[in-house]
Amino acid sequence: MPELPEVEVTCQALKAVLEGFSITEIQLNRPDLRYPLPPNLENEICLYSIQSVQRRAKYLLIDFEHGKTLIWHLGMSGRVIVETPEIPFLKASPHDHVIFRTSNNHKITYRDPRRFGFIQLTPTSQLASVNPFNTLGPEPLNNPELNVLIFHNRMKKHTKPIKNALLDQKIIAGIGNIYASEALWQARISPLRAANSLTQPESALLLKELQDVLKRAIAAGGSTLRDYVRPNGEVGYFQYIFKVYDRENKLCEHCEVTNLSKIIQCGRATYYCKICQK
Ligand SMILES: [Zn+2]
Repeated sequence: MPELPEVEVTCQALKAVLEGFSITEIQLNRPDLRYPLPPNLENEICLYSIQSVQRRAKYLLIDFEHGKTLIWHLGMSGRVIVETPEIPFLKASPHDHVIFRTSNNHKITYRDPRRFGFIQLTPTSQLASVNPFNTLGPEPLNNPELNVLIFHNRMKKHTKPIKNALLDQKIIAGIGNIYASEALWQARISPLRAANSLTQPESALLLKELQDVLKRAIAAGGSTLRDYVRPNGEVGYFQYIFKVYDRENKLCEHCEVTNLSKIIQCGRATYYCKICQK
């Protein structure tokens, strides 16, 4: 499932090919993804200049000059493929649902086998008031409005386990299952403790490790970004070496004596070290 780093790398790749340009043609190969695709999408956005491409939590936001924003979520299995005139176009897949052609001769394909992704259109001025943007917590990265005290106070309001609190997009936005486990392991904090049991120094450490793991994962995608025109054209997917995620019964690299455990919290797998994480 694309998490924040994958969406950020996709965002940066789309920024490079869309900002200052426009979409000239849209091919919709089906009427819906998770939700129906916006009616008259071609008339609504084609030929209007794109002012910015941004990420908020795990959403891509494409702002057009005429005050419309395209909201794009990659769901469980969505991938963006950017093709340029210099490389041969890919063999089409039955999962290529939306294809954009741009004024700078790029072809951007949205491929999503499970179709949990979606594309919606909203007036830019109303974005902050529509679901989920009206309830999203603060961005974890590059956000001057998020400091340790704010993060600590948000966590202190909840009795649920810390891991579940990190996944609650209303408390902090964009943290997914993989990076929640990774950050808690890095901070040596148990995913089972109540969120309101964090001391302020622990909150400071957890926020630092969350930001660290997200930044390192984004950096791992940097090579993909430089290469977004690589032969398969896919962006946003890259090899990041997880320390705990999907490593049940593998040796913990902190203590080097304990094997990592897997538990289920709120229906999601959590990986952690019973010894190191207090
Ligand atoms: Zn350990």
